[in-house]
Amino acid sequence: MGEAGESMKRIAGIVVLHCILLCGAGPATQPAVRPATAEETLAALKERFGSEGYRYEIDIEERLIFAVAAADDAAFDRLRASLKEQAEAFHAELFKHKPVHYVTVLMPTVPDYRRLVKYKNVPGAYIDSARTLIARDRGYVVTHEFTHALHAADREPLGQTHAVWITEGLGAMSEAADFADGKLTLRDNPRFGDLRFSASRKAVIPLERLIVMDQREFVKRPNLTYGQSGSVMLYLWEHKLLREFYDTYKSTYAEDPTGRAALEKVTGKKLPDFHSEWREWLAARKGKAAK
Ligand SMILES: [Zn+2]
Repeated sequence: MGEAGESMKRIAGIVVLHCILLCGAGPATQPAVRPATAEETLAALKERFGSEGYRYEIDIEERLIFAVAAADDAAFDRLRASLKEQAEAFHAELFKHKPVHYVTVLMPTVPDYRRLVKYKNVPGAYIDSARTLIARDRGYVVTHEFTHALHAADREPLGQTHAVWITEGLGAMSEAADFADGKLTLRDNPRFGDLRFSASRKAVIPLERLIVMDQREFVKRPNLTYGQSGSVMLYLWEHKLLREFYDTYKSTYAEDPTGRAALEKVTGKKLPDFHSEWREWLAARKGKAAK
């Protein structure tokens, strides 16, 4: 996520979390001849978190394994339905490959979350190597992390590791999106509020620099990097270029993993010119108040 929270500490926290998940799940997830089945993963989760206060389910159709604390029937059904709509919307709009492997949706109790993630400023994470989404907060945090899971499933068959700005841009753009009836509708994100002022003062990071950042650099200035990346995605979507950009990015990935070639191709502009146009577009978005 992009709050003050996303810092270098997060990376360390995720490493800790990854280890706990893998090391604590029993023989099925040790380095093994075959991956754990959904039932084995569920059994391991039950053993780790216990039956009290948790709800466990496997959704075969959506390839999801749920371990969710403090969810009554209505809350659980809402969560399940919202993830289904989100997946449908992304598959209709952007992602070609549906998840083949199960993804675990882990929403622990507050004490369990604290034990798993040592840093208070990290509300959620998606750990691809464990195919696990963990979220402390409901709502946009789950949405953001679930987009990472869907995105990871889309690029997995291609063997691609996409640029951080693209991964987090997709995550950030989805936070304020609407997925009703499986249709993706993007909106201005609360993150864009301050960003509009930065854009009007020309105090944003040049896109030429943003797109070449690695994870370490990207998380140093989260208020700018997450917001900028998400707003570039919103710009592309509003100009009906998002799908074309993403498809072009995947097909040109081997030559240019930064996304520069794909951006220049679909916008028909050199990157510095596109930067100026995007910045002015963002600075002018008065009245597009975030919800
Ligand atoms: Zn993210």
